[in-house]
Amino acid sequence: MKLLVTGGAGYVGSVTSRLLLDAGHEVVVLDNLSTGFREAIAPDATFVQADIADAGTVLTPDAGFDAVLHFAGLIAAGESMHKPELYWDHNVQRSLALLNAVRAAGVPRMVFSSTAAVYGNPTELPITETATKAPTNTYGATKLTFDFALTSEAFAHGLAAVSLRYFNVAGALIREDGTAIGERHDPETHLIPITLQVAAGKREKLQIFGDDYPTADGTCVRDYIHVQDLARAHLLALDVAAPGEHKIFNLGNGNGFSNLEVVEAARQVTGAELPVEIAPQRQGDPATLVAGSQKARDELGWIPEKNTLTDMIGDAWAFYRSHVA
Ligand code: UDP
Repeated sequence: MKLLVTGGAGYVGSVTSRLLLDAGHEVVVLDNLSTGFREAIAPDATFVQADIADAGTVLTPDAGFDAVLHFAGLIAAGESMHKPELYWDHNVQRSLALLNAVRAAGVPRMVFSSTAAVYGNPTELPITETATKAPTNTYGATKLTFDFALTSEAFAHGLAAVSLRYFNVAGALIREDGTAIGERHDPETHLIPITLQVAAGKREKLQIFGDDYPTADGTCVRDYIHVQDLARAHLLALDVAAPGEHKIFNLGNGNGFSNLEVVEAARQVTGAELPVEIAPQRQGDPATLVAGSQKARDELGWIPEKNTLTDMIGDAWAFYRSHVA
């Protein structure tokens, strides 16, 4: 298939691009490099540096794209509470421009990297696709809005749409030749990369946001999936996309890990002491988020293979040491 990957210079988009190329697809990466890294882009992909709002310049009716995989977007839940306008602009307004370009070009399929943050404070655990959608942060609200747009698009215009909703992605793609493709954000806000920065001596200490949540050790519990497992799910999603349907799958590990468990696993992997300071809760952070992925297992045939913290932090550390530190 000929595929457009938006956000192919970002973490999940760059790893997925490589698996798509490995599977024999033709990949065009569209990225404005506002948060992504040029060197992360798969070398065998064609790269177009442009904003998703201008996707129409690439998605022309005669370009023959079979699908768009949409990863480009802003992802920091904390930031989305302070700068909501940025999130509505990137994750909704510009994404709708992309959707218009998809329709105008007659692209039949779209796979959207959504988020399980659309569910907000869960009323059931693990969270299934039919759970109440009540995002507690602007990030989740903007992703849910685009999910709704995809549902309408499938209904009205026959798009074959698939949304994948997941929580925290971790790990790196380690290639056979030893190269690694992993996670980098600037500034870094995510827990695992921050623990690695502390382990590498780039930061003095780790702040844990809140130890007074109603969880076993008082810190938030999150569902982590390995980026390789997540990228595989995007390939499987392409296979099940069906005209006129918007299929939605939650992807999760089945297990949640508390923030302190993450720190402990990072200590084991890195051998570093990792001093921790307990800081106030972060706005918009629910206590426990664990996604159920039975539907993905049944309908996509997706089974997470690297689901321990040691798998994930071990690969992330390999990437960090070779590329970032
Ligand atoms: N977190 C933390 N300290 C940090 C960064 C994150 O305690 O320096 C916590 C955060 O409050 C949440 C969990 O780690 O409970 C995962 O947050 P992250 O930002 O990594 O991902 P998110 O769940 O927001 O997508």
